[in-house]
Amino acid sequence: MPIDATQPYDDANIFAKILRGEIPAKTVYEDDHALAFHDINPQAPQHILVIPRGRYVSWDDFSAHASDAEIAGFVRAVGHVARAAGLVEPGYRLLANTGGDAHQEVPHLHVHIFAGQPLGPMLA
Ligand code: C5P
Repeated sequence: MPIDATQPYDDANIFAKILRGEIPAKTVYEDDHALAFHDINPQAPQHILVIPRGRYVSWDDFSAHASDAEIAGFVRAVGHVARAAGLVEPGYRLLANTGGDAHQEVPHLHVHIFAGQPLGPMLA
């Protein structure tokens, strides 16, 4: 079910459980600000999710309320993950679904990294 991006943060969400180590994930990178892992249901040959360690429901919540250090650390982590995976060429796509119309399902901000094939002008 898509979420309401304005809802309060729910510590029971699945990515909070991954951050606490209560649920396994195929981690590819972690630092003080971010955790990156392979999507459990990949929509491209390479499909990685990057999440901030902070308790932010959505891109909207994060961009409005995270500190400059958290935002800088998270953005740099996303770029690092893509570079470390060798994705800069031939290229990759970033996506942060926000709220119901975008079909955000997990109420903890996540940036999708899609790569590994020509992705076309837009994902459906
Ligand atoms: O942007 P949206 O909220 O729709 O995407 C959620 C993503 O989280 C999905 O791509 C889903 O496969 C992924 N997921 C995951 N591991 C889980 C639960 C969901 O990678 N345990």
